[in-house]
Amino acid sequence: MFDKILVANRGEIALRVIRAAREMGIGSVAVHSTADSDAMHVRMADESVCIGPPSSSESYLSIPSIIAACEVTGAQAIHPGYGFLSENANFVQIVEDHDLTFIGPTAEHIRVMGDKITAKDTMKNLGVPCVPGSDGGVPTLAEAKKLGQEIGYPVIVKATAGGGGRGMKVAKNEGEMEHAFMTARSESKAAFGNDEVYIEKYLTTPRHIEIQVFGDGKGKAVHLGERDCSLQRRHQKVFEEAPGPAISAEERAEIGKTCADAVARINYTGAGTIEFLYENGEFYFIEMNTRLQVEHPVTEAIFGVDLVREQIRVAEGLPMSFTQDDLRINGHAIEVRINAEKLPEFAPRPGKITHFHAPGGLGVRMDSALYDGYSIPPYYDSLIGKLIVHGRDRESALTRLNRALGELIIDGVDTTVPLFHALLQEPDIRRGEYNIHWLEKWLEDNL
Ligand code: ADP
Repeated sequence: MFDKILVANRGEIALRVIRAAREMGIGSVAVHSTADSDAMHVRMADESVCIGPPSSSESYLSIPSIIAACEVTGAQAIHPGYGFLSENANFVQIVEDHDLTFIGPTAEHIRVMGDKITAKDTMKNLGVPCVPGSDGGVPTLAEAKKLGQEIGYPVIVKATAGGGGRGMKVAKNEGEMEHAFMTARSESKAAFGNDEVYIEKYLTTPRHIEIQVFGDGKGKAVHLGERDCSLQRRHQKVFEEAPGPAISAEERAEIGKTCADAVARINYTGAGTIEFLYENGEFYFIEMNTRLQVEHPVTEAIFGVDLVREQIRVAEGLPMSFTQDDLRINGHAIEVRINAEKLPEFAPRPGKITHFHAPGGLGVRMDSALYDGYSIPPYYDSLIGKLIVHGRDRESALTRLNRALGELIIDGVDTTVPLFHALLQEPDIRRGEYNIHWLEKWLEDNL
């Protein structure tokens, strides 16, 4: 069993992990940059170590500093949160080489799923339905055009190393292929140092449905249903809910079992998310995230489980504390991502929080590292909080979200809160009728 774990992250997710550790009687070590000396995760952890200057590459991404912080404090395991080093296979290898435990999957699983071509190949072989497209990388424009003909336009050119919505370009017809192919490649080269791209059928009106899976690393795995994350801006999620308003119990059981069986067969360890596009009753795999997701709390709410506690348990070699049969959905949950951004451009707005009041009451969870007088530094992600509500059904979750947003006070910086007030007025949102393009269109028409 661990006495102490180090949290290689910051912000709300660092608090999330520190809280789980504390409930398990495990000590926590925060690491921070010089810009984060006053950050909440530093205050809340049992110990903290400054690991470098503000720039992420010299602090939260600095592998030697993080390993050194473990050695100095005697932490036996590292929880990576999401982002930063959470999907860096090289980091996991180094952690293991230092006889420390990485709270997450193996380096090999991260490597396979981190490359979208090998991920898709692996999933196809495990019986997971995939988007029709190229078999692997597409090296030349001539081949891309040939594939466009075969698959049928529109198609999407995607970077195998892609992430965060970058390195993706749609070609509606052969005339657009050259531009899409060249831009996806050059964007990918610039962002990820790898210009390999592949081609998929572009689905025109899908929903983004993702399945939460969890494995014990020894061949057992379960699924915890789906989250609908279709409300996206520039391929970034802003509003997530579970269960998905368009998914039936039969569909959930079937795709859930396919996913749980797939990860069981590869002896996957810990939390993972298998992302799909869902159109006309069919699921199409797009990628797997080998970490805890930002939106994991909606799943925790409806299943009544603590996913971080479970991650720590399996990292300690303990069995999972639930079986598939134990997992029953109770009610409906919604999360909204609150960013320090100014609408309508969504321009980042770091600055000082003059007043912060978190909503509360039945079925309300606010995961945030804000406090009165806190200055949001300009160096990191603009996510400053997640408001999660849980209700008996979708309707009561929406009502509760409206109530909780009304209680929330964040003074001093602009936030995305007004967006959610407006969305709650929309009949399509109230009915749960939206796809991955709905929000972009709405923003164009309304902001
Ligand atoms: P990233 O890793 O950059 O997040 P994903 O492969 O997860 O990229 O795709 C992100 C989003 O891009 C999806 O949620 C969806 O909105 C859109 N997308 C990706 N592939 C397709 C496709 N084949 N057809 C339509 N939209 C797609």
